[in-house]
Amino acid sequence: MTETRAQTVYHAATREEALAALETTAKGLTEEEVAARRERYGPNALPEPPKRSAFVRFILQFHNVLIYVLLFAAAVTAALAHWIDTGVILAVVIVNAVIGFIQEGKAEEAMAAIRGMLAPRSAVLRDGQRSSVDAAELVPGDVVLVEAGDRVPADLRLLEARGLKAEEAILTGESVPVDKTLGAVAEDASLGDRAPMMFSGTLVAAGTGRGVVVATGGETEIGRISGMLSEVQTLTTPLVHQMDIFAKWLTVFILIIASGLLGWGYFITHMEFGELFMAVVGLSVAAIPEGLPAVLTITLAVGVQAMARRNAIVRRLPAIETLGSVSVICSDKTGTLTRNEMMVASLAAAEHLYSVGGNGYAPEGAVRWREADVHPDEHAVLMEFARAAALCNDSSLRGHETGWRVEGDPMEGALMALAGKITRDGPEPFRGWARTDAIPFDAAHRYMATLHHDHDGAACIHVKGAPEVVLGMCANQRATDGGTEPLDGDHWHEMIEDLAAEGQRVIAVAARKVAQEHLVLNVEDIAGELTLIGLVGLIDPPREEAIEAVAECHAAGIRVKMITGDHAATARAIAARIGLQNSESVLTGADIEAMDVGDLAEAVLTTDVFARTSPEHKLRLVEALQARGLTVAMTGDGVNDAPALKRADAGIAMGLKGSEAAKEAAELVLADDNFASIAAAVREGRTVYDNIKKVISWTLPTNAGEAMTIIVALFAGMALPITAVQILWVNLITAVTLGIALAFEPSEKGTMRRPPRPRDEPLLTSELVWHIVLVSTLFLGAVFGVYAYAVDKGYDQALAQTMAMNMLVVLEMFHLFFIRNIYATSLTWAAVRATRFVWACVVIVVVAQFAITYLPPLQAIFGTRPVPLIDGLMIVGIGAVFFALIETEKQMRLTFRRPAA
Ligand code: ADP
Ligand code: MG
Repeated sequence: MTETRAQTVYHAATREEALAALETTAKGLTEEEVAARRERYGPNALPEPPKRSAFVRFILQFHNVLIYVLLFAAAVTAALAHWIDTGVILAVVIVNAVIGFIQEGKAEEAMAAIRGMLAPRSAVLRDGQRSSVDAAELVPGDVVLVEAGDRVPADLRLLEARGLKAEEAILTGESVPVDKTLGAVAEDASLGDRAPMMFSGTLVAAGTGRGVVVATGGETEIGRISGMLSEVQTLTTPLVHQMDIFAKWLTVFILIIASGLLGWGYFITHMEFGELFMAVVGLSVAAIPEGLPAVLTITLAVGVQAMARRNAIVRRLPAIETLGSVSVICSDKTGTLTRNEMMVASLAAAEHLYSVGGNGYAPEGAVRWREADVHPDEHAVLMEFARAAALCNDSSLRGHETGWRVEGDPMEGALMALAGKITRDGPEPFRGWARTDAIPFDAAHRYMATLHHDHDGAACIHVKGAPEVVLGMCANQRATDGGTEPLDGDHWHEMIEDLAAEGQRVIAVAARKVAQEHLVLNVEDIAGELTLIGLVGLIDPPREEAIEAVAECHAAGIRVKMITGDHAATARAIAARIGLQNSESVLTGADIEAMDVGDLAEAVLTTDVFARTSPEHKLRLVEALQARGLTVAMTGDGVNDAPALKRADAGIAMGLKGSEAAKEAAELVLADDNFASIAAAVREGRTVYDNIKKVISWTLPTNAGEAMTIIVALFAGMALPITAVQILWVNLITAVTLGIALAFEPSEKGTMRRPPRPRDEPLLTSELVWHIVLVSTLFLGAVFGVYAYAVDKGYDQALAQTMAMNMLVVLEMFHLFFIRNIYATSLTWAAVRATRFVWACVVIVVVAQFAITYLPPLQAIFGTRPVPLIDGLMIVGIGAVFFALIETEKQMRLTFRRPAA
């Protein structure tokens, strides 16, 4: 393909040559052309790493110690011509593999769906209109806008670059960001020296720019390096990994005991080998928690999906665990706690305070002074406001059937709407002015400046930003009639406090005329030279759901802190409305800088509102909170937030307004930028942790109880109360039902009214160990008891064994109902009603047990006998007594958890 060859020389071409070669213009392609090129070039996506085929995945299910043991056992039983045993064992093997296969497939699907939700988007110019599209939709010739924090979506030849730097380590290995500038470079320049090119997959470290797409998908530089992106996330967390290892060692342990027993039975109690061997196989199947790792994986996958449904997308699985133990959430204000639906409410000029009406982002509405509509003809300063608002602005407004929407920053959208309201000239007033240069907004310097030239050559600088910053750059102020007068600092500061105290976000706008030859904007051009136009007050109401979610967090023992770049008074007013605990005392970024580590660690505990902070303050706050032993969740959106997000125990990035850099640093991405989704994620995190615990608390005692039954019988040299094939049957039936049911448990009722779990809480608590001992002992007692009772009653051995086996299954079911509520009583209606999944499992198991007990063909295979009704009722009765016993024991334990009344 000749195009591929051409792409390598775009860095040597001029901008115009590049545009011409790609048959496009600086305004971008037309939609028709885009459609045509998409046909021709395909999607802008790297080829997917090859997936394991279904067959390979199925075969891999057999790669498992237990399966090896079982296959070996099948061979031995076949050699002994015990065909029934062989058949049952092989059935267990196959069912195991099928379940594993299905579960793994589901889990992988869940993860793939999540990955799809994180597909990057890109700002593109088409037909001269800016819009945001899936990066996969880009075609060569598209004009793309990039800014700090973006992942470059395709290979670009730059058309415009302002302070642009790219971090190209994935291509060049060089981790220091390189400057990106416009000039052509030598044809043989190496990748790292191609300054006018940006490469797909590299990170925009600073600045803004626009460029024309020269290559997409597999044709990009990154696309040529094969295998780069085949990184596949494994579905595990530290806890599950730990359990995995535990399960492996437990298996070894059990196999040693099993061979010991084989020796003991053969040489000491002189049992018949075939029978003995099957007993040992039964023991291994009963005791090895072969299903546990798979069920835990399912539990995680269910949790990941539940979170995704609540708009919290997990990027790194361990976050699920961490989220459950979060004790402090540090949240951004704008857009997370508030709606980020901005509207200009007031304009403060030197002599007048105007109020602004209107609806949403519609560029229509009245500007009023003392209840009367005013017009820029009498109030010339209004036109100054409008011009600054419209020109020092990167957003655009778009009319839809459902109303006006913003492309870009909502605050800038509100300013654009303001300009429309004043000029009554539609959504894009001042179209005649061309932007010659700009200093982009940065959360660290908190202002933005632009340089424009109009048709007549008049040149003007406009600045907007945090009022303290802008005021500091002003020499004088604009008078109502359009002239200038000396700056009245006291008046303005009073005005700022007044507007901010109402919860309004206050920004100041200023301007300066410059000479026509002025083409480059420098910081020196604005410092101390500007004329202040006035203040703009914007409202951004709190989200209703956030108020509820904050209350929920407080009930759950989680402290919520607000961190914002906004003014202290604005922050305080919003914090009070949102219901933060200590909204009165506010620490500013400057305060934080003045503190040493000790003071900060002290202050950070009681302060809930941090204002005028920069991203690096976030990092210090996280560290201070962690130093106090807290588990910190921190939100962020910009490139500079990445270090704090990485450092936090749970970094949370904004899905809508967040930069790609922040998302990549985060563990969790919020699809809706909403604080309420964080609370929901914490709830799910706690639920998943509980469910992991429940799965373990159900599985281990069950296995131990079954295993002990066999071990005790073998050592005592007595007949097995449950035969080996019956044990295999029980495992087969319960593994596909009861064993998985707990993975789907919903949150317990009090989940968000408990304090967070301590970060270092071990999984095998003494409580769990005690539970294992208690339950397995009760299992043992009940099974042997029923067996002894039957023998005593003169029943034959087969019937006694059938009863003992049914006893075991009944106990397992009651145990499941007990485990479903580890923090509360299981004896409420809601608790008994359970999930449909649990009831389906119970029905399946009951039907299966009736079948094996009463159906002649199954009786022939498993050596069972029909159990008399009265004995059946007794078995269920014993199950109920078992339930009552462990439930009472739980109540005794829970009493001491609650503080004394
Ligand atoms: P927040 O934490 O509320 O998102 P930011 O860090 O985004 O705050 O902004 C901090 C301050 O910077 C704002 O209060 C405002 O004064 C100013 N500011 C924010 N966005 C812009 C912008 N696009 N142009 C100029 N100034 C801005
Ligand atoms: Mg912001």
